[in-house]
Amino acid sequence: MKNKHILVTGGSGFLGSHLCERLLELGNEVICVDNFYTGAKRNIYHLLDNPRFELVRHDITFPLYVEVDMIFNLACPASPIHYQRDPVQTIKTCVHGAINLLGLAKRINARILQASTSEVYGDPTIHPQPEEYWGNVNPIGVRSCYDEGKRCAETLFHAYWLQCNLPIKIVRIFNTYGPRMHPNDGRVVSNFILQALQNRDITIYGDGQQTRSFCYRDDLIEAMIRMMDTPDEVTGPVNIGNPGEFTILELAELVIELTGSKSKIVRRPLPSDDPKQRRPDTAKAEKLLKWQATTPLREGLTHTIAYFDKLLKEEPDFCKQ
Ligand code: NAD
Ligand code: UDP
Ligand code: UDP
Repeated sequence: MKNKHILVTGGSGFLGSHLCERLLELGNEVICVDNFYTGAKRNIYHLLDNPRFELVRHDITFPLYVEVDMIFNLACPASPIHYQRDPVQTIKTCVHGAINLLGLAKRINARILQASTSEVYGDPTIHPQPEEYWGNVNPIGVRSCYDEGKRCAETLFHAYWLQCNLPIKIVRIFNTYGPRMHPNDGRVVSNFILQALQNRDITIYGDGQQTRSFCYRDDLIEAMIRMMDTPDEVTGPVNIGNPGEFTILELAELVIELTGSKSKIVRRPLPSDDPKQRRPDTAKAEKLLKWQATTPLREGLTHTIAYFDKLLKEEPDFCKQ
């Protein structure tokens, strides 16, 4: 991918900012659209001087008129704390946002990729989760605004492909972590690392036996770009994640070991509808993208710990939880 004009929505967020950076490195022009709901200007400050980078403050629930070759749609709060703060806005971002961007893609005949999520599988009854699995989602629970919003966005993408022959791509992203995660978004990796670095109690929700599979952000970004580069007939959905599966208790113990922390583990109530297990079946990604996640959890956590350690020293107020 080179010399393309590319729109990245949610470009000032955790994953979006890394994607913008990588697309610029590859020699593309990037328009980053973001309403700064959870994103931060600090994530993209270093890109503002680049003449091939443009930042537009805009909420994707409203129409958008730009001319590009490709669209990566990442705009949407991703952590439970943030997406549950204003559930209606989360649904509007997923649904109205998708309609606007699909309408835009249709008008200019651009390729468009949707950042979907493993949450479309809900609390899965099939393990690991292949793309064929339809999921087990509560339509009216605390997580529904996100889960059902993202499911509807997939349906919209699919409908524009069927009806308008639009070149669409859907990736289902499993838990991804790395430097630039927001210190306050309550996700398990950032929470545990910040707690451990400050020798505060590590908060495990429930018994800690629930599992997640953690993908390092560089692996994820590589897979998204490969997906965008697939032939038109490859629409997805394709799971992207690291199949290494860990209990939340194992994650806590690993973070304590890697930080040399004196933190104690404490229990907190399990939020409702919290999925009990999650692991991607990545056979499709391996076949279609010639890709698999290569960063082991231990290595990715070491980079992420170094990032938060520096952030705590340089910007302690930003890290207050
Ligand atoms: P993030 O919260 O850091 O980034 C989301 C970005 O979207 C932010 O910059 C936010 O300000 C912006 N945004 C939100 N609503 C918007 C709107 N209406 N208009 C314009 N911008 C808006 O989250 P992230 O972890 O970088 O996630 C990026 C995408 O990847 C999301 O779509 C998320 O659902 C998806 N995803 C992430 C993960 C993960 O583990 N990080 C897992 C599955 C899916
Ligand atoms: N849209 C947009 N930018 C464009 C073209 C369309 O934001 O360049 C929006 C437009 O506001 C519309 C939505 O995309 O609400 C869906 O467009 P589509 O053409 O599919 O449907 P229609 O305009 O017929 O409702
Ligand atoms: N979790 C936890 N302690 C925390 C934050 C999260 O035990 O401080 C648990 C949470 O209940 C869930 C898992 O860790 O079972 C992953 O949570 P996260 O919010 O990171 O992602 P998601 O639930 O959306 O996969």
